[in-house]
Amino acid sequence: MNRSNPNYAIECTIDECANHCDCEPCCALSRISICSCSDTKALDAGHTECASFKPKPKY
Ligand code: SF4
Repeated sequence: MNRSNPNYAIECTIDECANHCDCEPCCALSRISICSCSDTKALDAGHTECASFKPKPKY
């Protein structure tokens, strides 16, 4: 994974993530995994999360 290589198909504003691009508001991964954080059906965005999130060491 190259953090200077934005994946424009995955817009993301979570700059605290080690997978976030250094130069654009995008993820630097070629693909991500999205999961539900609800025990029931996901009804809105609040029931989902990015399972690829990885905190930067400083956080
Ligand atoms: S892994 Fe998820 S949270 Fe991290 S930069 Fe990519 S899309 Fe954003």
